[in-house]
Amino acid sequence: TGGDDAARTVVVGTEPTFPPFEMKDENDVTVGFDIDLFKAIAEDQGFTPDFRDVGFDSLIPSLNSGQIDVAVSGMSITEERQQTVDFTDPYVNAGLVIATRPDTGIGGVDDLAGRQVGVNIGTTGATAAEELAAEGKIGGVQTFQDVGLSMEALVAGKVDAVINDKPVSETYAKSRPDKVIILPEVLVADDYGMAVRKGNTELLETLNAGLANVKASGQFDTIQDRWFGDDA
Ligand code: GLN
Repeated sequence: TGGDDAARTVVVGTEPTFPPFEMKDENDVTVGFDIDLFKAIAEDQGFTPDFRDVGFDSLIPSLNSGQIDVAVSGMSITEERQQTVDFTDPYVNAGLVIATRPDTGIGGVDDLAGRQVGVNIGTTGATAAEELAAEGKIGGVQTFQDVGLSMEALVAGKVDAVINDKPVSETYAKSRPDKVIILPEVLVADDYGMAVRKGNTELLETLNAGLANVKASGQFDTIQDRWFGDDA
């Protein structure tokens, strides 16, 4: 095959239903903030990214079995995950919020008692809801495969609230302003990191160096403006 030796390929797992971080465009191509950021890091560091769709709850197992090299998927840095993977430097501040419908009367976490709450499998939102349920502060937790499905269940009245990441919940709320509202309270604040196999220091250092360069060059801000506009 022609050309120079191909640059090293890094296999990236992402769960592409998490707008504006990762989602499919009309041609079924994965696009979003995380994708543009990772491409900029790859270009800076001279490697080729190969993006693969992976269910959110399969990202860490796929890393550890060697099917992917890095998970870039709006993944929050948590102590629990740090037991099994290594995270890059944080690149986004996020946190969990409650989405509800205007008709539920839910105004905060204390109003979730007896209510059905939707969450997405394997996420920090699911962990938070399960903890609240264990304390009797939630009627029941319903787990969905992705945010689109949990939000549909909210709109359809199958659940009365969804606990999920603020930027993504806000994106959904904007597309259904009459049906979905986001409560102001942040239940748990966190940061996103890119996850690599534990001990893969070489890739971790490459990604951190690329992230620092992309921030210093102003590309990070350009990407942020592209996907978050005035909200950034
Ligand atoms: N940030 C959340 C987590 O890490 C949700 C991520 C996601 O659904 N892509 O669990």
